[in-house]
Amino acid sequence: MEPDLRGLTRAEIAAALTGLGEKPGNAGAVFMAVHRRGATDLAQLPNVPERVGRALGRAFSLQPLPLPERTLAAADGTRKLLFRFPGEAMAECVVLPGKDHQTACLSSQSGCACGCTFCATGALGLKRSLTTAEIIAQFEACLRSAVDLRSLVFMGMGEPFLNWENVKKAILILSDSRGRHFPQVKMTVSTVGVIPVIEELTRSDLRVRLAVSVVAADPELRARLAPMEKTYPLNRVLAAVREYCSARQAHVMLEYILLPGVNDRPSDSALLAKLIEGIPCRLNLIPYNPPGGPGPATPRVKQFQQELIAAGVRAYLRPEKGADIAAACGQLAAGMGSEHSGT
Ligand code: SF4
Repeated sequence: MEPDLRGLTRAEIAAALTGLGEKPGNAGAVFMAVHRRGATDLAQLPNVPERVGRALGRAFSLQPLPLPERTLAAADGTRKLLFRFPGEAMAECVVLPGKDHQTACLSSQSGCACGCTFCATGALGLKRSLTTAEIIAQFEACLRSAVDLRSLVFMGMGEPFLNWENVKKAILILSDSRGRHFPQVKMTVSTVGVIPVIEELTRSDLRVRLAVSVVAADPELRARLAPMEKTYPLNRVLAAVREYCSARQAHVMLEYILLPGVNDRPSDSALLAKLIEGIPCRLNLIPYNPPGGPGPATPRVKQFQQELIAAGVRAYLRPEKGADIAAACGQLAAGMGSEHSGT
């Protein structure tokens, strides 16, 4: 089958038109027809000359946007949408309610190869990376499901930086002024620490925000919990983050999942504070969600936060949403009977 035009950025459509002997200036109208006006037939693209549509039809298809197979709603208003993409590639996205707006949390892969031990997605292994069109399909479904969608995070299933080309294209398509025009500054991409992509972001024009999953400050403990530590050790990840912050005059979001008795000891908070000293960041503490539902609110959670604050860290407790439908952080497993996720 020909490649799906839906997965092309506007610049790629312009290049494709040139290659087909058509004027690249039609790219904006083609892009708008597909991404804003919901065209489903290349032969009938609104405001695009028929000849251009026919030319595109020789090299591309225009696949219908996949729809979620199932939607679950939690008591707190969180909605989880389950997709079954071709090849039995399951993936979930979540609409998270906030005080005055909603956030879409998208998956970048079906499953994940990183194998973090606390994560249900990691337990699945990697089925495959999602295509750009599949990522966009999740966004469009969230948009239909939300009342006021104003932010977007890549914190669902998968490690976005291990599917970076497709995630980057989705960011460019969703933020394009001829499409949804969703601001890049309202998008956050979360990684467990793929250094080459952090370095690429440092140099790039993208305005998306970076979030890094710290997991544990002690290298040996981190290697046990997040095997990626062996490829990209946290001290090198944080060096890349410092460079990112200084080159872009940007803040970074650091995430720390609190595993009771594992990485929430006073020695862990002390080591963590030392490690991230001087990084312009906000640190989100995320209480672990064990399989089966929300974790108990242990007193250590609050104490851990206080210890960090006392050490000068802007540490926040992230309120968990959707734990009763396995949509909270660490719980996304694409309806595969387990419960936990997210980079
Ligand atoms: S935490 Fe993120 S990187 Fe680790 S296994 Fe889960 S989805 Fe993959």
